Amino acid sequence: MSRFTTDSIIAVIGAGTMGAGIAQVAASAGHPVLLFDTAAGASQRGIDNTAKGLSRQVSRGKMSQQAADELIARITPVSQMTELAPAALIIEAIVERLDIKQQVFGQLEEICSADAVIATNTSSISVTAIGATLKRPQNLVGMHFFNPAPVMKLVEVISGLDTDPQIANDIYALSASWGKQPVLAKSTPGFIVNRVARPFYAEGLRITQEGAADIATIDALMRECGGFRMGPFELMDLIGHDVNYAVTCSVFDAFYHDQRFLPSLIQKELVDAGHLGRKTGRGFYDYSEGAQKPDAKTAAPYPAPKSIIVEGELGVAEPLLALFEQAGIQVERTDNDEVEGMITIGDATLMLSNGQFTTMRASETMRPNLINFDLALDYTRSTRIALAPADQASDEAIQAAIGLFQAIGKSVSVIDDIPGMVVMRTVCMLANEGFDAVNQQVCDEAAVDIAMKGGVNYPCGPIEWVNNLELSYALDVLDNLMDAYGEDRYRASPLLLRKVAGGAA
Ligand code: NAD
Repeated sequence: MSRFTTDSIIAVIGAGTMGAGIAQVAASAGHPVLLFDTAAGASQRGIDNTAKGLSRQVSRGKMSQQAADELIARITPVSQMTELAPAALIIEAIVERLDIKQQVFGQLEEICSADAVIATNTSSISVTAIGATLKRPQNLVGMHFFNPAPVMKLVEVISGLDTDPQIANDIYALSASWGKQPVLAKSTPGFIVNRVARPFYAEGLRITQEGAADIATIDALMRECGGFRMGPFELMDLIGHDVNYAVTCSVFDAFYHDQRFLPSLIQKELVDAGHLGRKTGRGFYDYSEGAQKPDAKTAAPYPAPKSIIVEGELGVAEPLLALFEQAGIQVERTDNDEVEGMITIGDATLMLSNGQFTTMRASETMRPNLINFDLALDYTRSTRIALAPADQASDEAIQAAIGLFQAIGKSVSVIDDIPGMVVMRTVCMLANEGFDAVNQQVCDEAAVDIAMKGGVNYPCGPIEWVNNLELSYALDVLDNLMDAYGEDRYRASPLLLRKVAGGAA
């Protein structure tokens, strides 16, 4: 029998951004909800904000007034913590401080029944550490919602060292019954999302720090080629650099300074300057009145080539060929499938980035006019592509490559030669971190993809994405990044190595 029914009383402590949203989620599933906050009037304010949000849904015809009223009526503000005694589940969403959370849970243990489940919405504190001072740490579980809680599907269900596995499973089932997509994970720094997402920001910061592309071009490539809703700089400006930098630092510290999580000096500069993003009117971009967002660097038009020759297999980039043909470009295919996939236009050669400098690949393959192109989420739908020419490539070769992609409707951003370009290195690093989380028993592979799609709206789970790319290709990209930089940060996860060795594509 299930531990919870819709009659089970759910209590929420902390009626701020997250608490009010979590109360709404539980009430919307039919539970009676008790909402408690120590700040005078905060619970009622939280409920009023929820009511305002619901009336917007009513006016858009997404919900009836009656349903909205009934939902609000199920949330009761309480002014004393002792009133939470009848709750079957108490979810804490208060200030992010270990000592205060421990103190609140300690009080709750005195108030609630011995079989009540206590959950924390912490985004960065160890669930094990919160449980350390409790009498019944087995009843404590992490229930990590994402902002805004009523909208975002993901709930990370986090087990501390002493969490009863049955309680974690019951919270997983309850979250699913609330229409959420729960995942199970062990309490480790950053859990799943805040760990696996680090390269999304870090690689963008690295690319711009090395001058390979400007922020507007990187953002445009991640959106229009990678399919992400926002680029890393737009997203960091939205989150706030104080918050984003603090998460990076806390994950870096918690992993004993593993270089994989190294914070960025250019983000620290923004924090030091007080340019925290949208909330202060300036971050990477300027949000002051009348300020213009810079345009992504986009190549001027060049004529389309009449014909191209394709050798080897292009793998994920194969769908480009049909697009070229539809655009009236003659595609001649050689039967030489021994070579790496490549497209030639006269003496220009185009290859999908493999994580090497194009310049180095050009010299190794003795193709001086080599131009690497970036990974796209879907080459048929993406509207932009990045090209990274070798230093020795001629202007004519670069112009032919630009014209080829323009002929199929893509905006072309020519970036400086940087290993792994923009989307390719970011996606391979995201997946690598996902594999490492799995390798370290934090969660399973499915959880990584569910978490990144449901918690941060990625257009594709990173593990699914590199499986489409081919795991051996992703491993090559990482090995080549490692060779180029000589930094431990790019070391491949042992799980990826093992999968490729074991014959996974
Ligand atoms: P918030 O500042 O909006 O709200 C916190 C509320 O808790 C305030 O109303 C405050 O009065 C109340 N509070 C503080 N101490 C209390 C106590 N001892 N007892 C009862 N109420 C108390 O904060 P938030 O953004 O809602 O974050 C709450 C928790 O959720 C934090 O642990 C945070 O890390 C986590 N979280 C936040 C987000 C986010 O995007 N904001 C996302 C996921 C998780």
